[in-house]
Amino acid sequence: MNVIRVIPSGYCKGVVNAIELVKKTRSEYPLEKIYILGMIVHNSFVTRELENLGVITLDDSIKSKEEWIDEIDDGIIIFTAHGISDSIKNKALNKGLFCVDATCEDVLKTKDLIKDYLNKGYEVIYLGKNNHPEANAVISISKNIHLITKIEDVNDLNIKNEKLILTNQTTMSSLELKEIIDEVKKKYPSVLVKNDICQATSSRQKAIMDLKDAHLLYIVGDIKSNNTNMLKEIGIKSGIDKVELISDYTMIKDEDLTVDTVYVSAGASTPPKLINEVIDYLRNK
Ligand code: SF4
Repeated sequence: MNVIRVIPSGYCKGVVNAIELVKKTRSEYPLEKIYILGMIVHNSFVTRELENLGVITLDDSIKSKEEWIDEIDDGIIIFTAHGISDSIKNKALNKGLFCVDATCEDVLKTKDLIKDYLNKGYEVIYLGKNNHPEANAVISISKNIHLITKIEDVNDLNIKNEKLILTNQTTMSSLELKEIIDEVKKKYPSVLVKNDICQATSSRQKAIMDLKDAHLLYIVGDIKSNNTNMLKEIGIKSGIDKVELISDYTMIKDEDLTVDTVYVSAGASTPPKLINEVIDYLRNK
């Protein structure tokens, strides 16, 4: 069986920078309590690795980010690669907490773009994932940002402002975005469109769309990772017979390995170790 790694796949620059920033903070402040407000990137292996360095990830599915900040009185607080709302950041700063911001520069670019257009009197249609930290941080900017999560939501929009812009979370599916752009244009023909899928996401998706006659594709990554889930969605929409999202090699089912060639891709937050283990496992079959 041939095992082919899809290129590019795996870590993006935003993820590398965020993890490095946590490690640098740990080494510069070896005795301080360090908390991350949510998962630094959406991969539980990374979370565990950082916990081994004594860096605590605050689970934002248990308490809201505001509630966590209420509870922390000292130490260092790190904001994740997905970004943070200005109000939460200010709350931490006003409490006197030492803050480290690991927001990816591509996420910041989208926020700046949106703020710029809001200042010019525009309203914003924003395609994002419900309850994702990146989307939450963006929609907290203004009530003039209208979150849509799927094509059906376009029907429910009721915006009177003629100055209208459509943009998106950085890790959405390019195929879905294209369909949504067409749908929004039917309803609001003068809408300004700014595709803000980041380069890392779009190049990983394109590499999967370019697979010809693939029958089996593994996407290595965490179920919480939006860009990882989108790779799976792109694989399915591209007509690949079987697309499996696996967090590590132990999830591979040997009965699926009946093909001549298997392809392996991975989300932007998946550590190289996990990808290599999957490839080694398959090559030894
Ligand atoms: S996937 Fe894109 S936006 Fe997200 S961390 Fe990577 S480069 Fe940044």
